[in-house]
Amino acid sequence: MNRFIVGLFLGLTLACPCRSQNPDAGHSAACRQELLARAKEIHRRILSLDTHTDTPLQFTDTYNIGSRAKTQVCLPKMEEGCLDGQYLACWVRQDVCDSLHTQEAVRRVNRLLAAIHRQVVMNADRCGIARTADDLARLKAEGKKAFFIGIENAYGVGRDLAQVERVQRQGVTYITLCHSSNNDVCDSSSDKAGPRWGGLSPFGKQLVAEMNRLGVLIDVSHASESTFWDVLRCSSQPVVATHSSSKALYRHNRNLSDEQLRALAQQGGVAQACPLGGFLRRDARNATLADFMKHLLHMIEVAGIDHVGIGTDFDGGGGVKGCNGDDELIHITVSLLEAGFSEEEIAKIWGGNFLRVLRQVQENCRF
Ligand SMILES: [Zn+2]
Repeated sequence: MNRFIVGLFLGLTLACPCRSQNPDAGHSAACRQELLARAKEIHRRILSLDTHTDTPLQFTDTYNIGSRAKTQVCLPKMEEGCLDGQYLACWVRQDVCDSLHTQEAVRRVNRLLAAIHRQVVMNADRCGIARTADDLARLKAEGKKAFFIGIENAYGVGRDLAQVERVQRQGVTYITLCHSSNNDVCDSSSDKAGPRWGGLSPFGKQLVAEMNRLGVLIDVSHASESTFWDVLRCSSQPVVATHSSSKALYRHNRNLSDEQLRALAQQGGVAQACPLGGFLRRDARNATLADFMKHLLHMIEVAGIDHVGIGTDFDGGGGVKGCNGDDELIHITVSLLEAGFSEEEIAKIWGGNFLRVLRQVQENCRF
């Protein structure tokens, strides 16, 4: 029998405190409360990390991440949902690839980086910037939340390879190679014009080598399949997909095929399942936590328990009924408990796997 059917069966019959009841009837309110309490207890011991959000787009002069905000990500919501670490991405829209527009994209990333640091300084007693797995553990021990920084779209790094090291000094630990259109680095999975390079461009190959050298994670979410395979061939280090779900369950150009998931795992990398309605099912608006769990469990089944995590894309389109902000992330853990996962497995999914890759890439760099 498929181990996840076994897991589901065990989850309903053994892990569930209301096991004497008919499993088809669902959990009682008391049972749900007990599962929630167990999930929260587990989160006190493990390190949890969401690997992608676009919240910095909301960082206006009056915004404060320390207050309960309309954004799906903020410190009070992280506290409620028991999330320790949150990636904040500096997203830049793809524009024309001439030098004028490219320079503007670089300036935009610099402004977003400054805005992230400003939010953290404003709330220095409650959070800090994290660059490594150890930073996250240290901040948690201090009772603080951790913010990691990524750049979504290498367009914002420009054509000067030295810029990679400059943004790394600002705290950037991953760069997503492209967004929804092709750029100077590679082909995107969703450019209507079709391929420009047939994968990585010659400059893209140099960028991959430089990121390997500096120990900056390469993010292949948004990349076309040809780019994905080029990156796996060119990178000397494992790579990550920070927010993508399963193409076998729903055919969307942003999702990863089983073949891609297996290849990513074989190279030691991770795929971070994404609760964005449009990636999960045709009628995106009706997507729920249960739809997301199907994708997460399928990805674990294909890639293995050591190669899957969670990247929500909150404040960038992510969020489904039952999991629509950092405050509701604990519901994923409740679902994992219901499906029969152990604390050790939950720790891997919630951050352990991604942090292993981050540590490996940072330690192996030749910088
Ligand atoms: Zn994205």
